[in-house]
Amino acid sequence: MESSAVQTYSSTNAAQVEAACALHGLTQDEFRVLHRESVAAKELAYCPYSKFQVGAALLTRLGKYIAGANMENASYPVGTCAERVALARAHMDGHRDFKAIAVVTNSTLPASPCGMCRQFMREFCDLSFPVLMFDANGDFAVMKLGEVGA
Ligand SMILES: [Zn+2]
Repeated sequence: MESSAVQTYSSTNAAQVEAACALHGLTQDEFRVLHRESVAAKELAYCPYSKFQVGAALLTRLGKYIAGANMENASYPVGTCAERVALARAHMDGHRDFKAIAVVTNSTLPASPCGMCRQFMREFCDLSFPVLMFDANGDFAVMKLGEVGA
């Protein structure tokens, strides 16, 4: 995860949520469920080394939500990020078409997916794929996959 200096918005500000949803083709219900599911997923993180919980929720075009959480390992590179866990679970369940992903941490700034996760997403999602990044307070940033880390 990388700290983000991008514009952040409040998920309790209806006008900001509406604008973000309109820009990225999401309904406000989808936005709220993505946030809720990613927060719930975060609690399932396995992160005894970093103690840095990350949750992800992937929304399919069929309206299914698939959760992921980071899974660490004593050998650092063996661990896997929440985003990749969610995408792998989705693919294993037969999903191929994705509408958005949300990622949340306990940080006070939205954190963007790492380079490996962006590359992993690119395998299944185009560059306009929306990536919602929530912080611990429910503030969020949202970018297209092709803009994250650029
Ligand atoms: Zn990652």
